[in-house]
Amino acid sequence: MSEATGSCRCATVKYLVKNDIKMAANCHCTICRKMTGGAFASIAIVDAADMEILEGKNALTAYEVSENAVKHFCSKCGSPIYNLHKGFPGKYMIPIGSLDNPAPITPAVNIHCENMLPWVGSIMEMTNFDKAPER
Ligand SMILES: [Zn+2]
Ligand SMILES: [Zn+2]
Repeated sequence: MSEATGSCRCATVKYLVKNDIKMAANCHCTICRKMTGGAFASIAIVDAADMEILEGKNALTAYEVSENAVKHFCSKCGSPIYNLHKGFPGKYMIPIGSLDNPAPITPAVNIHCENMLPWVGSIMEMTNFDKAPER
């Protein structure tokens, strides 16, 4: 069993996942796209009992993004911390980018692919730089 920590960009909110993260998915739905501002959302799904907000609980703001989902984010820096979804009772959905070390978590599936942006499948065929190119 391994733990994982996470935090928002300004480090006001810090959390602990007290067990292995066993499930993660890339969601390409239009709501996740709006919520993250990215092409899709990479989300880990953990048991509520395994998720503990260590610091900054008072800085978390909840927003009802749909009739099924509530997003919780840092009110100071705007970073998403977790979502609750009626279709997944007892689960917290954590954007894996908020983990302090997201590298070990590999999403196993893509969902809502009917809304996937057309270039996502060929992302590694683009010109890739280790850092931003010099201008
Ligand atoms: Zn923050
Ligand atoms: Zn989604």
